[in-house]
Amino acid sequence: MTCTLTAAGHLGIGARGESWNVEQPGSSSSRGAAARGPWSSDPVTLIVVNYHYVRPGFEHRFPGIHGVTTSALRAQLQLLGTAGEFVSLNQVRDAAGGATSLPRSAFLVTFDDGLREQLDHALPVLDELGVPGVFFVNTWPIANRAVSSVHKIHLLRAHTPPAVLCGMLHAEARRQGLESLWDVESGEAQVGEAQVKYPWDPPESAQLKYFLNHQLTHEVKDALIAPCFREVFGDDESVISDLLYMDVQQLRMLGARGYLGTHGDQHLPLGRLPRAAVHDNVRLSLDRLLGWTDVRPFALSYPFGSLETSTLEAGAIAAELGVELGFTTERAVNVDLSSPLHLARFDCNDLPGGRQPYLQSSSLFENAPAARWYR
Ligand SMILES: [Zn+2]
Repeated sequence: MTCTLTAAGHLGIGARGESWNVEQPGSSSSRGAAARGPWSSDPVTLIVVNYHYVRPGFEHRFPGIHGVTTSALRAQLQLLGTAGEFVSLNQVRDAAGGATSLPRSAFLVTFDDGLREQLDHALPVLDELGVPGVFFVNTWPIANRAVSSVHKIHLLRAHTPPAVLCGMLHAEARRQGLESLWDVESGEAQVGEAQVKYPWDPPESAQLKYFLNHQLTHEVKDALIAPCFREVFGDDESVISDLLYMDVQQLRMLGARGYLGTHGDQHLPLGRLPRAAVHDNVRLSLDRLLGWTDVRPFALSYPFGSLETSTLEAGAIAAELGVELGFTTERAVNVDLSSPLHLARFDCNDLPGGRQPYLQSSSLFENAPAARWYR
């Protein structure tokens, strides 16, 4: 069976899970062509690196949960440490405000999704190496002891053969009267496109990821995924949620250390939502974090982080709510801090020490493309 849908309901969020994006390295402007702000006399090169899952090993039967091992994280941070200096979120905030400047070659280490394993396995490594971090958290799954669809998909893919999961989704679409979206005729073209988007995945896996990440609105995706998740993992989502996400006490610790940011209340593509929904999502996340930790975060990482999900409007709404720094998944270096609501951020696998690095650590700051989204 081939997982294909028509263009109806196309969402178009970033490929390769949530952390890839539409821009390729060669398409970004050269460093010299980047817009310069009032910092041009005091150049900044800030490289932000992003992680998701961090655990000692990844031993699922099927590909679905990709991350870095604890030892790979340590090795990568040690390698990056030879090329630049790690800075904290507060240092970036102060530099963006003009109060101070950053080191010429600065790294900021970030983690998305509020995964408990980041505190169990990554934070000890950061502390051991003296590296500051920031953890961007979704509040809805913690408040409701629920699992975000994005993580339901990861778990389903890790525990179910791609063809079986594809069959379950098809059956669910049929049951919900959504079968008209299923488009067997255009299957071949979409199989090709899936392989271009996900060159590292086996074809079946690539098709399934393409189907889930690029061809459904988030509402349709939620409606199809939830029953499949219940079928495989049972009704008690709260147990999985407790295992998967940080708890309030952990958030309090992060807040006290200046390590806490928001990833929105629910994990939704902000740039695709109506203005009021963006406002409600970000406001609720900030209110919840303030209530839990006595700290109101000033930094947001846009869920999915692609160009179309981290729009100027989404950034402006977040800014109205007190957000000062926003992080996308544009794979580029920040050569100034004049667009603090759209700071570029690499996936860890793109950088030296990652799985598919395209830059050497010795020339990283000189050769990485300059950020240009919304500039
Ligand atoms: Zn995320």
